[in-house]
Amino acid sequence: GNKNINAKLVLLGDVGAGKSSLVLRFVKGQFVEFQESTIGAAFFSQTLAVKDATVKFEIWDTAGQERYHSLAPMYYRGAAAAIIVYDITNQASFDRAKKWVQELHAQGNPNMVVALAGNKADLVDARKVEAEEAQIYAQDNGIFFMETSAKAATNVNDIFYEIAKRLPRV
Ligand code: GDP
Ligand code: MG
Repeated sequence: GNKNINAKLVLLGDVGAGKSSLVLRFVKGQFVEFQESTIGAAFFSQTLAVKDATVKFEIWDTAGQERYHSLAPMYYRGAAAAIIVYDITNQASFDRAKKWVQELHAQGNPNMVVALAGNKADLVDARKVEAEEAQIYAQDNGIFFMETSAKAATNVNDIFYEIAKRLPRV
């Protein structure tokens, strides 16, 4: 039958990568050019129906600033899923994303479904990180990868949908 799943999900990644914008797109279907910086963390929830289940995501959108790093474990601990976000036009944000992947592997729940999102895919002319490089990195690290655009609404529902499909059915 159809299962109801509650899933805590955390967004991690550099300041400005587009974490809040992805959440705003997913939860409200909106985008703003001048998204305010997140302070501490913000909470949202959204329900998504997949074939065999209805998943209620309890979403923690973290700030990303280094000075909040020590708070991050409060958000990823016990999380069923994480989306690690970088900006395809910013190499440093990709390097930072890799650090998050390593941290989750070291400290996170081993069954966590982890997605890597190369965001701002609409800004192809300013691209600094090749999709192929990120795809190979994701594959090597047992996580899945998608390029997204919160602005163009590309792959935003899809990445949450893909996570929902991969969550353990208990
Ligand atoms: P956060 O710090 O990771 O939460 O990033 P924000 O969501 O605050 O976004 C930082 C900036 O990037 C804002 O000015 C957003 O409007 C912009 N932004 C976010 N996502 C996209 C996107 O997919 N495409 C473009 N072009 N800009 C984006
Ligand atoms: Mg934010």
